[in-house]
Amino acid sequence: MSRTTATNQPDQTEKQTEDQGVCYAVIVAAGRGERAGVENGPKQYRRLGGKAVLAHTASAFLNHPKIDGVICVIHADDGDLYTSAMASLGDHGKLLPPCTGGATRQQSVFAGLKALEALAPDHVLIHDAARPFVDANTVSRTRAALDTHAAVLPVLAVTDTLKRGDAEGRVEATVDRTNLFAAQTPQAFNFPIILDAHKAAAARDDINFTDDAALAEWAYIPVHLVEGGARNTKLTTVADMSEAERLMDTMVPDIRVGHGYDTHQQVSGDHVWLCGVRLDHTHGLSGHSDADVGLHALTDALLSAICDGDIGEHFPPSDPQWKGARSDTFLRFASERVRRAGGTITHIDVTLICEAPKIGPHRDRMRAAISDIADLPTDRVAVKATTNEQIGFVGRGEGIVALATATVVMGHQAK
Ligand code: MG
Repeated sequence: MSRTTATNQPDQTEKQTEDQGVCYAVIVAAGRGERAGVENGPKQYRRLGGKAVLAHTASAFLNHPKIDGVICVIHADDGDLYTSAMASLGDHGKLLPPCTGGATRQQSVFAGLKALEALAPDHVLIHDAARPFVDANTVSRTRAALDTHAAVLPVLAVTDTLKRGDAEGRVEATVDRTNLFAAQTPQAFNFPIILDAHKAAAARDDINFTDDAALAEWAYIPVHLVEGGARNTKLTTVADMSEAERLMDTMVPDIRVGHGYDTHQQVSGDHVWLCGVRLDHTHGLSGHSDADVGLHALTDALLSAICDGDIGEHFPPSDPQWKGARSDTFLRFASERVRRAGGTITHIDVTLICEAPKIGPHRDRMRAAISDIADLPTDRVAVKATTNEQIGFVGRGEGIVALATATVVMGHQAK
């Protein structure tokens, strides 16, 4: 088990190992959770920081780049609760329709696995809905360990001294805590192997496991341990819910502002591309692609917001396939990259600096083009322009400059 620094960001090293199999997450949300109090309904639908507990939990998986799809297993009575809980997530393409669970946790997990069977994923992560504070690193570690193990369990070493008590409430013995761990979820498995184990367990009426690692043990599948998350606790009691509210108050929105700059030289020609719009002009702009400085600066701003290199790294000018390419390809790529990293683009601002052509008459077409390519509403896209007062290389008409900022909201992160 390796110790890593806990942050909310996926391991950067993951980028080097590209997708090794399709991985789905099953979120078990069919329980009644009566220990958390019955008067306010099942705990997975209680609101925490303005969002249902289940929506927080699902977001952690929906926003993780290594998770290809998420299915929630819900109680037959909870369809309406589920619909209103998940409404805050919007139209998320990775979220599958929910399926109905059974009378026990084991039956509910089995229902979720059977619902995924037709999709034939390579891997599955099984997670409790009542663990909304699961962090991206714990998801990354459990998923990564599946490359070399069939079953993976995130755990925390037990730090309290353990006592065994007797029926009279007296200490009987002190238990050696060496090699003792507290089990968490997500528990991660090779999909066909855990599905087969669940099928075998379902055929027996004397088996009712409270987690899937125990079922794997029963089926003689070796379970590999990885480090869990310190905050990844399970909300069980009324006190846990109050503690979760307190923890939520300590979270701040993770808002990123990325900045980009680009310039291209004016050369002979009869048109320029600026912010996705073709304008007739007395000159052209030199560049390997269509030389759209506005979209290049904006692509860099988006990549900067998620600390994901720059346009030159992803689209090297030395690569002949980008010769004459339309720059909307670059912007669409960066926007998708932001979304895959779990970000939502909330605002884009581009400034063009040139003596000519005049930008004002074309501003709204440029905003519409960016809105279309980056897939956000036009009223969140600003385009403005200024001359350089005939000073310097821009003032002499030797080139055009663009500056851009992009604002991206990544969800919540600990202070
Ligand atoms: Mg450029």
